[in-house]
Amino acid sequence: MNIKLHFEKKDFISRFHDPRKNYEMIEVKGEIRTDPLTGLTGHIAHTGTVSLQEPDLKEFNQPEARESCPFCPGRREKVTPRFLEEFISGGHLLRNEALVVPNLAPYDTQSSLVIMSKDHFIPLEDLSEDIILDSFLAAWDYFHQVNRYSPSLRHYLIGWNYMPPSGGSIIHPHLQLLATNHPGNLCRLEINKAEEHYLKYSSLLWDDFMETEKKIRERYIGNHQDVEWFASFVSQGMWGEALAVFPDAESIWDIREKHLCGLVSGLRCLFNYFKSKNIYSFNFAFYPGTKDQLGLRPHARIVPRFYLNPTTYSPDINTFQILFREPVSVNKPEQLCTEIRKHFP
Ligand SMILES: [Zn+2]
Repeated sequence: MNIKLHFEKKDFISRFHDPRKNYEMIEVKGEIRTDPLTGLTGHIAHTGTVSLQEPDLKEFNQPEARESCPFCPGRREKVTPRFLEEFISGGHLLRNEALVVPNLAPYDTQSSLVIMSKDHFIPLEDLSEDIILDSFLAAWDYFHQVNRYSPSLRHYLIGWNYMPPSGGSIIHPHLQLLATNHPGNLCRLEINKAEEHYLKYSSLLWDDFMETEKKIRERYIGNHQDVEWFASFVSQGMWGEALAVFPDAESIWDIREKHLCGLVSGLRCLFNYFKSKNIYSFNFAFYPGTKDQLGLRPHARIVPRFYLNPTTYSPDINTFQILFREPVSVNKPEQLCTEIRKHFP
């Protein structure tokens, strides 16, 4: 029997005299929510105040930009590192256009990149399922090699910073791969919360989460090719967050090509929503899970990224997120869910 989760939220009201209304007193409402998957809180504020613009991205594809790119064909063979021969024979892994190489500036012992394509610049509308799927499959080829070479590493992670607002410093599409025993604070909270839930109820937190969300249907985008999609109750990003969960996999080693095909197809639907809102940049994080995790399902979080003020390049994260460690969202997840759902068949 599933345990019904509680989605806790509190309203706040701010009152002041508004110069736009001849100094009438007005009330502005917002919310503080607590995420049952992490225990973290998040504010919903500034709703309806942000409008997004997609700039002209052509400058990213000028010949001089390509000539200095370390990931473009011709240069990448000369300037990207190679794996130790005893680890990966030949020095790199290749899946059609997707090339896995060590990160020249590693974040951890096993820190690598997937250069996703031969093309230097791929706008969101041209980011094909084939390119993304080959890149994920190449990541899995790498993860299997790591598991053979360094079996003590338990957590495998994929990160993707697409376009500059996301922190992506190189335009050429690429994924970050990590194998580590230190998967990060958010992941650690998820693991702790799932264990705590299991010890208390003998029930799997993420299954209970999915069951509860599917009954409420306020943030459930839908099942797309066996992947469950939700608008997160507490978003880590200012525009909101999409959460994709594999309900029938327990860990990275249960994930097959069909799972990744399903995820990629859903991502394409999500990107169509992004395009409709002038969103041209995002962060993607995939946590495929470990063999011994309790109550957690492999999942991905996708957060749109943008400049709050494109003229000054003011980012959508500030003191709140960095130092108060409190995410702020300008969209209600329930509204976001309704809008994203229109793009999922
Ligand atoms: Zn390039």
